[in-house]
Formats: sequence, C-alpha cells, structure tokens
Amino acid sequence: MVRYDLLATTGVQGLQPYQPGKSEEELRRELGLDTIIKLASNENPRGPDPRITAQLPELFADLSRYPDGTGFELKQNLASHLLVKPEQITLGNGSNDVLELVARAFLQPGRKALMSRHAFAIYQLATQSAGAECIAVAATDGVNGPLYGHNLQVMLETVNANTAVVFIANPNNPTGTHVSSLALQDFIEHLPENVICVIDEAYFEYVEVSDYATALDWIGAYPNLVVTRTFSKAYGLAGLRIGYAVSSPEVAELLNRVRQPFNVNTLAMAAARFCLADDRWLADSRESNKQGLRQMTEGLEALGIAYLPSVGNFICCNLGRPVQPVYQALLKRGVIVRPVENYQLPGFIRVTVGTESEIDCFLNALELSLKT
Ligand code: PMP
Repeated sequence: MVRYDLLATTGVQGLQPYQPGKSEEELRRELGLDTIIKLASNENPRGPDPRITAQLPELFADLSRYPDGTGFELKQNLASHLLVKPEQITLGNGSNDVLELVARAFLQPGRKALMSRHAFAIYQLATQSAGAECIAVAATDGVNGPLYGHNLQVMLETVNANTAVVFIANPNNPTGTHVSSLALQDFIEHLPENVICVIDEAYFEYVEVSDYATALDWIGAYPNLVVTRTFSKAYGLAGLRIGYAVSSPEVAELLNRVRQPFNVNTLAMAAARFCLADDRWLADSRESNKQGLRQMTEGLEALGIAYLPSVGNFICCNLGRPVQPVYQALLKRGVIVRPVENYQLPGFIRVTVGTESEIDCFLNALELSLKT
C-alpha cells in the first residue's frame, strides 16, 4: 500500500486544512431549519450593491472567453483610486490568493515567516505549504497593548537572518484588534529591507479609530512593503473572489510570475470596477456596521459577556466556558457563529456584525444557549 500522505511535501504533511464557517446550506441539510442566520465568515450582511447584480447578466455572453489576464482596466481604476501606478498592483482570486502568492514567491524550506499568535490562519497555511517555518510571536496582554493584539516590538526583536516574510493583519481577524499608524510605521522603518512586510487590510474600510492609517501611505518609501485588500468584506463580494496587493513594481513583478494566468474572473473584475466607481453602498455598509457594532456590544454587556473591542465587522466574545455546547445550541436555533479554539482562543466565539434583526436574533439565541 502506497502511503500517499508520505509522498506529500513535508510542509503539506504537517498541514491542517483551513476550517471555513459552516454554510447555511449545510445547516439546513443537517437540521432542516427554515430560518438561518450566518454570522460566521465576516461577510457584509447587506450583500453587494444591487446595481452590480443587476448589471452582471450583461456579461454572461462573454463567459466563453478567458478573462483579461492582465486585469488592465481594473488595475487602471485601482491605480487612480489608490494613487499608485498600475504596475504596483497584483490582482488575486480573493486577497487569500495574493497572500499565497507572497508565500510562493518568497518562502521556501529554511526560511521563516513571522506572525502574531492569534493572527489570521492563512498566513500559517501558506507558509507551511511553501515548506517554510512559521514563527508565531506572543500577543500583547492588555498591559503593553490590547489583549491578544500584535506585539510589534517583540515581532521586530524576533526577526533574524532567516526571516523572509512578516504577516501583519491590520485589523486582525479574529481578534478585531489593530495596530496604530505610529507603531506600524516605526516597525516598518526598523524592519530590514530584505524582509517582505505584508500588511493585510482586509477590514480596512470598517476602521473608524483615529490612530489607524492604511500602510498604502508608505508604499513609495518602503519597497519591501506589500498591502493586501479585498472586495469580500465591506463591498460584499465574497462569492465572486477578488482582492489585490499593492507593492513596489519590483515585488509586484515577482508576485505576477507565480500568479495563475487567469486567476481573476471576468464577473469579479467588472463588479470590482463598479465598486470603485460608486462608493455609496460602501458608505451605507460602513454606517450600518458602526450601528451594528454598537448594538452588539450593548447586547453583550447586558448579557454579561466579555468581548474584545473590535474595529472590524466582527466581535470575538469570551464565553468563559467550553464553546462547543454553546456553539451547538446556537446552531439548533439557526445561528451560525465561529468557535475560534483553533486560534488559541479557547472559550471564544467570533461573531460577524449582522443586520439589526440578525443581531437581535443572535443575542436572544445566545442568552438561551448559555442556559443550556
Ligand atoms: N485577510 C483576513 C484578515 C481575512 O479575515 C480574510 C477572510 N477571512 C482574508 C484575508 C481573505 O479574504 P478574501 O480571500 O475573501 O479576500
């Protein structure tokens, strides 16, 4: 008998696949419930701008053709929107794709990638798949920074000659924490120029706090900086899969070498261009998230549930007890959230900010589920 598991590369042998949030269809199949509320994958509960969905059928006639593999028009639009050059942009099948391109281009056995202990799981997966080693740095502890946040000082001290890439999620999923613009710029300034510094800004559009800045402002000054963004979150296009990286042209050229030639589909590019041309839906989504965050934190406080203050569209709640029974009890009530034990956050669930009525349902279901 051939042991195919041993034929896989060493990195792949040690991998645990990414655990996505349970889908509504899966729960419907399992429990036959009519009403299901999914608050497990940080999607926009308002969906995408309806004018995009109305426009997409016009493109169906072109679906026998390959997409524009250079992404020419979208890159032009992004470049003027972000005040960068088109050659600084790498398009991806979601920002997940560009994170993997970074790993493929810069990581290999013998090299290390640095990340924070409770950072987004894909950094570890991409690093290990490339055969490189992950170094997860202890988080801030509530005294030297927020609970479970990125400890940039210790991350900097941990960099050594083998460090090839640093991944920083700002804001971070699942903790909802952010690093301040001052601390981040200081970190980038002191990071050796030969270490690629990825700042993942998947939730950037939601951030309202004044000490936050996008790392895009520093792209011109640091050629080792890569900023990733997505249309999956605030723009509500998670199902179409589109994201991008902005970097120096030199780094973008390397990322484009390992990119699949047609990694972004025609519909996704058209929808993204629409989003950039008209941001009214985005503005309303941000506003509704702001109100939702308030509604959720007030509700959690009323229930006596501790949570990590979040600048994103989700909240990490500390149930202070084993999460599985509560998670299962919520599922039975048709509410899907995300246990985050795999992020070394035992006792925590991560809950996406839903619509007003979804949040009400979640809070009611949580109150009942905590009694079971
Ligand atoms: N970065 C972070 C921090 C995320 O939470 C996610 C999605 N969960 C992604 C990147 C990837 O999202 P997408 O591939 O849909 O752009």
